[in-house]
Amino acid sequence: MQEHLRNTAIAERLDSFATLLELADASPYAARAYRRAAELIRTTKAPVADLIRAGRVRELRGIGPGIEARLRELVETGEIAELEELERRVSPDLVGLGRYLGIGARRAVQIAQALGVRTAAELREAAAAGRLRQVPGIGPQTEAKLLAALERESDHRPARGMLLHRARLLVGTVAELLGGTAAGDPRRFKETSEHLAVVVASARPKRVLDAFETLPAIVSVLDRTARRAYGVTVEGVPLELVVAEPGRFGTELVRATGSAAYVAALEPLPDAPDEEGVYRALGIPWCPPELREGPLRGEPPPLVELGQIRGDLHCHTTWSDGSATVEEMARAAIGRGYEYLAICDHTPAVGAVRGLTADDLRRQALEIADANEALAPFRVLRGSECDILPDGQLDLPDSMLAELDWVQASVHGGQRLPKREQTKRVEEALRNPYVSCLSHPKGRYINRRPENELDVERLIEVALEEQVALEVNGLPDRLDLRDVYVRLAVEAGVPLVCSTDAHSIRGLGNMELSVATARRGWATAADVLNTRPLDSLLGGRRALPG
Ligand SMILES: [Zn+2]
Ligand SMILES: [Zn+2]
Repeated sequence: MQEHLRNTAIAERLDSFATLLELADASPYAARAYRRAAELIRTTKAPVADLIRAGRVRELRGIGPGIEARLRELVETGEIAELEELERRVSPDLVGLGRYLGIGARRAVQIAQALGVRTAAELREAAAAGRLRQVPGIGPQTEAKLLAALERESDHRPARGMLLHRARLLVGTVAELLGGTAAGDPRRFKETSEHLAVVVASARPKRVLDAFETLPAIVSVLDRTARRAYGVTVEGVPLELVVAEPGRFGTELVRATGSAAYVAALEPLPDAPDEEGVYRALGIPWCPPELREGPLRGEPPPLVELGQIRGDLHCHTTWSDGSATVEEMARAAIGRGYEYLAICDHTPAVGAVRGLTADDLRRQALEIADANEALAPFRVLRGSECDILPDGQLDLPDSMLAELDWVQASVHGGQRLPKREQTKRVEEALRNPYVSCLSHPKGRYINRRPENELDVERLIEVALEEQVALEVNGLPDRLDLRDVYVRLAVEAGVPLVCSTDAHSIRGLGNMELSVATARRGWATAADVLNTRPLDSLLGGRRALPG
C-alpha cells in the first residue's frame, strides 16, 4: 500500500510507460494518451492518489478506463506490472538496432527473448555465432539477410546516434540544470552520440538524482543506484548521470568523457577533484577531449582554436537559399569578431534551389561593394559555391570565376558515380586554376546518405599539387571532411578551411563544430587557412585584389 504517492511520482510512472510503449512500437495513441494523462496529473492540485482510491479519477478529463485501471494498480501495489515487464524486455539500443535491420521493435524484442539476449551487442554476438536460426520464424534466407545487414552496419553505416549539435545542447542543458559538467560522446565532439553523460560533484547524491528525475528532458529513469542513474530522453536516447564525491569528480569526468578505449588504456584512474589532477597523478599531459578516441598518453599538438578563426569562407544569402542578406550576414560575422566573410551562393546546376548565373553574380557584386563600403575595414569577399558538373567542368565560365575572390567547388548531383569516375571528376575540377577550396568533399549526410565513392588519398595528392584547400564543413549533419580524413590531410600538409556553409545568421555559429572536427583530426592553426589574415589567405596560388 502506497500511502504517500505524490502526483509527480504518479505522472513520472505514466511517462515512463509512454516512452516504453513507444519503444515497443505499441499504438502511438496509447503512448500519447499516457503522456497527456501524466501532464494532467502533474498539473492537478488535488492529490490524485486520493481521487483514484475514491474511484473519482475519471472525473479528470482524458483519463479513460484503461489508464484508470493502471493507476489503481499503481496506487494499490506501488507498481504497474506491465511497465516492469516492458522495462525488463525493452532495451532502447536493441530496438534501435532492430529499426536499422528493418524489423519492428516488437519483433526485435521477440528475437532477443528467443536468443536470451538483452542488448544490441549481445544480439550481434549471437548472430555472429550463427544462433539466429534458433529463433522460430527465421529461416536461412532471413538469417542471411540479417547477417548481411549487420555486416554493412559495421562497415559503412555509423550507428544512428544523435547529431552533435542536439547532443551538445541536451547534455549542456541537463548539466547546467544540475550544476554539473557535460561529458560522454558530445564532449569529445564525436559526430554522433550514443553515450550521453553528465557528471556532478556532490556530497548529497540523493538530491541530485531526485532533481534529475524531474527534468523535462528526461521522460523516464530506467535504472538508479546510490550515485548513478540512467534516464531516457525525449528522443529515446539513454543519458547517464554520475554524481561523484567531490574528491573524485575529475576521475569520474575522465571516465564519463570516454572513449571507452581511451579510458581503458589509462586505468586504473587515480582519484582527483579535477581532470588536471588526474593527469598529473598519471604523470602524463592533459589531453583535449577531442583527442580521446583511442589510447593516447603523449603530448598533444597545439590544436587550432575557435578564437583563432578570422573569417568564414562559405555562406549563403537570400540570393540563393539563405535567409539573410549580404549585409546582414556580414554584420553577424563582424559580431563574431571576424575580419572577412566570403559570400558563396549556389550556381544553376544545383537544381533544387535557386542558383546564380554570371549575370546574377555581377549584380550581386554591386551589393557586396556597398557592404564593403559600409563595413570597412571588414571585407566581404565575392565568392561562389560552384557546382562541379558530371564531366568535371565547373558551372560558371572561367572568365567569371576569374573575377571572384574565393571559389568553392561542390559536388551536389551525380553522387552515385563509381569511385574511379567520381575521383576523376573531382580531380578535374581541382585542376581549374580558379578553384580555391573543395566543399564538403565526401558528400555525406550523417544518418541519411553515405559518403560518395571517392579516393580520398588521391584527392589529397591533387589538392596538395594544386594548393587547393579542403573544407571541414561545419553543418551538423555533414561534418565533412570528417576527423579521420582531416588527419590524413594534415599529415600530407594540405591546407584546410573551417567553414559553416551557413544559410542563416545563426548558422554562422556552427564554426565551433567545424573547428572541433578539425581538432579531432589533429589540425593546428597552421593547417587552417582561415586563421590567417586576408592578405595571406591564398598563399602563392592567387593574389586577392585590393
Ligand atoms: Zn553544398
Ligand atoms: Zn553551401
